[in-house]
Amino acid sequence: MARKVLVLEDESSIRGFIVINLTRAGYEVIESETGEEALEKLRDNPDIRVALLDIMLPGIDGFEVCRRIRATNTRIGIIMLTARSQEMDKVTGLMTGADDYVTKPFSPAELTARVDALFRRAGGAAPEQAGEISQEPFLLNTRNRTLEKNGQRVKLTQVEYSIMKMFMENPGKALSREEILDMVWGRDYFGELKIVDVNIRRLRLKIEDNAQNPTFINTVWGYGYKWGF
Ligand code: CA
Repeated sequence: MARKVLVLEDESSIRGFIVINLTRAGYEVIESETGEEALEKLRDNPDIRVALLDIMLPGIDGFEVCRRIRATNTRIGIIMLTARSQEMDKVTGLMTGADDYVTKPFSPAELTARVDALFRRAGGAAPEQAGEISQEPFLLNTRNRTLEKNGQRVKLTQVEYSIMKMFMENPGKALSREEILDMVWGRDYFGELKIVDVNIRRLRLKIEDNAQNPTFINTVWGYGYKWGF
């Protein structure tokens, strides 16, 4: 599987620093000095999965490059490289379609961690996809055991996470409280069924738009619960 990353940075010392560190982390790095060159290299290498874009460049700037990439490619991960003085740039960069930003100067560890994270999310290969369950507006990451709603992290306990995973793996299926207890707490758990209701009530407060009128976790009267409709 290709681990290709594009680096667009006109300052050769910074570019060199990035290339050395990403290469060391196991990435194949494709370098470019200008936005025009970056777009060309992206066309030649459709398997590039993450692009790091400097903002201030001769010719078209990093935002314009970002916009042009996003016009045809929603899958690639984009990280903007910003200077400390560019607070507004961060905001604008994220709005034009970047996924993340790194502020210069950054450490090799910080840079690699950001690229790794985006590389996993932008992944198209089977192993990465198997680590995620996506059902709008939710994204469950089974590798990190995390949940996002509309791109925002929802903090869950381990039990709440297990309940979410069970629901998202069984959309539209009515699950009895006994089944839920077995699946989440395990067959040898000798607790009360009420623990299911308690946890689901708390989970609703975290994930529903209105917990009083839930639309994701629906009650099946006298039986249990159902995910979705
Ligand atoms: Ca620059």
